Amino acid sequence: MSSYDLTYDGAHLNKENAVLEVRNIKKSFGGLVAADDVSLDVESGTITGIIGPNGAGKSTLFNLISGFYEPDAGSVVVNGTEVTGRQPNQIVQEGLLRTFQTPRRLESMTVREAMLTGAQSQLGESIPQLFLSGSDVTEQERENLHRASELLDFFEIDHLANEPTTSLSGGQMKLLALARALMAEPDVLLLDEPVAGINPVLVNEIASFIRELNEEQGYTFFIIEHDIDFLMELAEDVIVLNRGRVLLEGNPRTVQSDERVIEAYLGGA
Ligand code: ADP
Ligand code: MG
Repeated sequence: MSSYDLTYDGAHLNKENAVLEVRNIKKSFGGLVAADDVSLDVESGTITGIIGPNGAGKSTLFNLISGFYEPDAGSVVVNGTEVTGRQPNQIVQEGLLRTFQTPRRLESMTVREAMLTGAQSQLGESIPQLFLSGSDVTEQERENLHRASELLDFFEIDHLANEPTTSLSGGQMKLLALARALMAEPDVLLLDEPVAGINPVLVNEIASFIRELNEEQGYTFFIIEHDIDFLMELAEDVIVLNRGRVLLEGNPRTVQSDERVIEAYLGGA
């Protein structure tokens, strides 16, 4: 199916510059089919949204793409490399990273320390520590510290660098999650509900950070979000998931007014 198809049945596949290609991915939990033959492409340099009722399988799909769940069938290709079945840190090295709704295991760290642990994947666990001389490590650490302070500055949370992460507000945690994800310099970022539960002012700020990262620095975003207005603002392309299946894909305006989408949301409520 080409991008010019106007029927909007399912996802548009074989996009010219796909940075992410998901093909016929399946995942069941007992009798429940959470991902039911999902295929989709995310084009490089875009902001692509994904919506769907609670339980539609959105987070499961992100877990399958990013290596946190192993698919029962199907494949995932990142930057032209098949990554199906690989570990999350290996997939980060191919250029794809996801954030979680609530960042994990940061409890005893300062904001700066959390940023530095976000950089770990850069060094690459495939490089044995033995082969890194002391000066290389120091150089790497220096670069990481520099990048951490640039990112904290960009997200306007540099004044919190020495604070324990436990002292941050929900909104500040969302900013830290984004900043931390960027430490790994991924090509494509999967964001799972990046503005859920935060105040409207910060929602707008996060939207403009994402837009700037996309437009000025070329990052590709694939974003799960319930806040359809947020995606209307940001995304050029929205994929609708319902009961583990792709219902349709299109521009946000078309998707929002589609009868099947309205039905899926009302039906799923
Ligand atoms: P969404 O993010 O769209 O709200 P999820 O992907 O979280 O939906 O969940 C889709 C379905 O898969 C739900 O019914 C959920 O309970 C189920 N599910 C997700 N992860 C697991 C798991 N690890 N074990 C069992 N069931 C799961
Ligand atoms: Mg979810």
